[in-house]
Formats: sequence, C-alpha cells, structure tokens
Amino acid sequence: MSIATVNPATGETVRTFEELGPEELDRRLELARLAHLSYRFTGFAERRRLLHRAADLLEEDLDEISRTVTLEMGKPVSQARAEAAKCVRSMRWYADRAEGLLADEYPDEADVKDSGASRAYVRYRPLGPVLAVMPWNFPLWQVIRFAAPALMAGNTGLLKHASNVPQTALYLESLFQRAGYPEGCFQTLLIGSRAVEGVLRDPRVAAATLTGSEPAGRSVASIAGDEIKKTVLELGGSDPFLVLPSADVAEAARVAVTARVQNNGQSCIAAKRFIVHEAVYEEFTAAFVQRMRALRVGDPMDEDTQVGPLSSESGRADLESLVEDALARGADLLCGGHRPEGLGGGWFYEPTVLAGITPEMRIHQEETFGPVATLYRVPDLDSALAMANDSPFGLSSNVWTQDPEETERCVAELEAGAVYFNGMTASHAAFPFGGVKRSGYGRELSGHGIREFCNITTVWSA
Ligand code: NAP
Repeated sequence: MSIATVNPATGETVRTFEELGPEELDRRLELARLAHLSYRFTGFAERRRLLHRAADLLEEDLDEISRTVTLEMGKPVSQARAEAAKCVRSMRWYADRAEGLLADEYPDEADVKDSGASRAYVRYRPLGPVLAVMPWNFPLWQVIRFAAPALMAGNTGLLKHASNVPQTALYLESLFQRAGYPEGCFQTLLIGSRAVEGVLRDPRVAAATLTGSEPAGRSVASIAGDEIKKTVLELGGSDPFLVLPSADVAEAARVAVTARVQNNGQSCIAAKRFIVHEAVYEEFTAAFVQRMRALRVGDPMDEDTQVGPLSSESGRADLESLVEDALARGADLLCGGHRPEGLGGGWFYEPTVLAGITPEMRIHQEETFGPVATLYRVPDLDSALAMANDSPFGLSSNVWTQDPEETERCVAELEAGAVYFNGMTASHAAFPFGGVKRSGYGRELSGHGIREFCNITTVWSA
C-alpha cells in the first residue's frame, strides 16, 4: 500500500508521501540508539515534565488534529476529539504514576536472607529503542498508549504507522519534538510494511509492539522470535455481548448499539457477537434493530453523524463478502445489508443486523470490522458461555446480568482478557488491556503495560 491520505468519505486522494530511503532509515535508527544512551539516565522528574508538556500541546491541538484523523480514516469528528482527549488524560496519568509503578521492589527480608544476600532488590530499567507497528483505527490512541509508558520507562520509540494515516503519524513525531524531547526519542518512520522486517532485525532495535491484524502479528512475532526480541501483540477481536434474563434489556440494547458501531464498527473491542437468552431475545432484538436502523450515517466531519464510512474500499469489500456469505448460507437480515444511497463515492455501509448464524458461516469465526452485528439465541447460561468461547479470539467480553452466581461463572469461564458487566468495554490507563488466544499476548496500560518493555533487573549483594 502506498503512503497516502485518502479521504474515506469521498474516495479522493488528498496527499501522497515518499517512503524513507535506506540511508534516511539508517540515520533514524542510529538517532534512536544514540538518544536512548542518554535519555535512559534522565530522572522521572524530567520525564514527567516532558510528557506533561506533550499532553498540554495535544490538548491545545485537539480540534485540528481531530479533523486530520477524521480526514484520514473517517471516524465521526466528535469521536476523534474524544480519542484525542483520552490521550491527553492517559499521558498525564503515566506522567504522574510511572515513578511509583517502576519503583524498586524489595522482596521479603526472610527471602533475602535465605538467598545469602545482605541486600537484594528489583530495578526496572529500559530496554532501548522499541518499534511500534500501529493501525489506523485509533491512530492517536494506539500510539499514545504505547508511547507514554515507553517514554516514561526510559525507552525511545520508533513508530511505523499504518500507511493511510501519514499526517497523523507525522503530527505525533512533531508533538514529542515540540514538547522538548531530545532528538531521536520519538520518531515516525514513513515506511511500508515490507520494510518492517529490516527494522526489526536491526540490532539497534530492542523490542517491538504491534497492534493490528492476525497476519501482521504472526509475521512480526516470527521475525522477532527469530531475533529473540520481546514482542507485545494486540490483534483482532470478536467480542461476545451476553444478555441474560435479569438484565436491564432496554439499557443493554441501547449500549449494544454504541458498543457495535463505535468507530464506524472498526474497533478491536467492539461487541460483535450478541448472544441473547431466549427469555429476553425478542425484546432485546426489537429494541436493538430499531436503534441500529435509526443511526445517522453520513459525512464524518458533520458533528451529528453517528456512523461514517469504512476506512478503505477493501475494508468494505471484506465486510460485504462476510455478509453475503452468511446470507447465502441462510442467515436472516434484520436491517441494513447494503451501501446507503446518496452518499457519493465514500466507503459507507449501512448498520446491519444478522440473525440465524450457524457455525459454517464465515462470519461465525471471522472478525467483522464494520457496523455489522450477529445475533445468537441461546436457552441457558451454559450455551451462552459455550457460544461466547467458540471463537479463535479472546480480547474482551460484555455480560448483562444482575445475578451474582452468573457473574462469578462469567469471570471464571469467559476466555478473554477482560469481562465488562452491565456496560461496554472501554480501555482506561489504570487497567491492563490485552487478549488471549488469537487476540495476542502481553498487556498494555497500567503497571503491567509499562513493565512490558523493561529489563526487570535483580540486584543482589552479599
Ligand atoms: P493491519 O493490516 O495488520 O495493519 C496494522 C499495521 O501493521 C499497519 O501499520 C500495517 O502497515 C502493518 N502491517 C501489515 N502487515 C504487516 C506485515 N506483514 N508485517 C509488518 N507490518 C505489517 O491491520 P488493519 O487491518 O489496518 O487494522 C485492523 C486490525 O487491527 C483488526 O484486526 C483489529 O481488530 C486490530 N486491532 C487490534 C487492537 C487491539 O488492541 N487488540 C486495536 C486496534 C486494532 P501498512 O498500513 O503499511 O500495511
């Protein structure tokens, strides 16, 4: 894919960019190495000052950068602003908390004595330049949730962003530069995915994190494995949304719509499979379909738009092919299922609900990256849990119930990195974020996230 801004609302190419040549790429990797040699010795007070400055600048730029994000990937501009504001809050969170999260740890005195030491402790030291391969869907947030903790830990960052968000990628580099970070602490590499292998294998790069699809994750993890380099993978999801008889069904249906169509349906943690107990199935389905039908689809720059276009023509084609396959195999179309009329050359798709899903349909196992919901009717909690876990993915999960026993069973049995009760999944700097199964490994955010790219060093003295 060439590196370009192409407006998903019109299909027009707005601006194209040259990829970095080999010499410039080499110069930037060297800069990252050199920057790390000195930046790793800056104290927490200085790192805190720099990250707060970057957060303040982003806050000042909120309106402008939100429009750039919407121009490049098509999310409604109100959601782009919310994304940027969340970045500001999370940068401040890490700026203020990192020192505590990475404080030296002292084992029990008895264990220290037992080891023969007079003194022993654990120190969290940085690893070095970390490559971040990032997707377009939350083009600010995915980067900031890596960069804020990585920089606070004393690492330097090399961003290979998705090829369709180059202006956002360059903005992020300039944000950290303007905040006063030493040259080379955070750089954007305008390169295509074919150039990633060379960067990963370069001895100056210490580790990598990738947020994106399963094939991209597999490729980066294999190469990093071959080089014995640490990776964190945040991959796809097909999160279940269970509605059980004790749920507030009207509220569940209202939240279900947002959980499905947030970010034009292109969120890894969007609820995608709606698994509803038969006692409340009719009531939930009627309310859910009515709300999905009523969504305002249109120009993402319009403040009132709720669902904008998909980010690419191929993304829409993939979604259409999943829907067509399901319909050909007997699924019921409850609403949507087409390109909306009268929206010009953009890559729009109607909010769609499918029922009667069976295991041989592709949509049962694959991720729907767009505003398409699948409904399942189940007779009891056992079937609901079995259906929820019948997926190659395990990112997050949502359960609507007021019953304490059901709650405990869901915590114990759902195969996912998170369980959200009576609400929708939303990441927060204080909570670990990540998946199991094909959704990846490792965690971002919280203390767990900041320690992923640390050399956890044992210090022992006789
Ligand atoms: P993608 O094609 O995998 O792209 C993501 C990034 O990986 C881009 O920078 C892309 O660069 C790069 N890339 C693609 N193939 C690569 C390869 N073989 N080697 C190295 N880098 C490669 O993903 P997408 O379709 O844009 O994003 C949607 C996917 O991301 C969905 O599956 C979604 O669920 C997942 N996602 C997961 C999370 C999470 O936290 N778990 C969050 C957001 C999204 P180019 O753009 O240059 O191809």
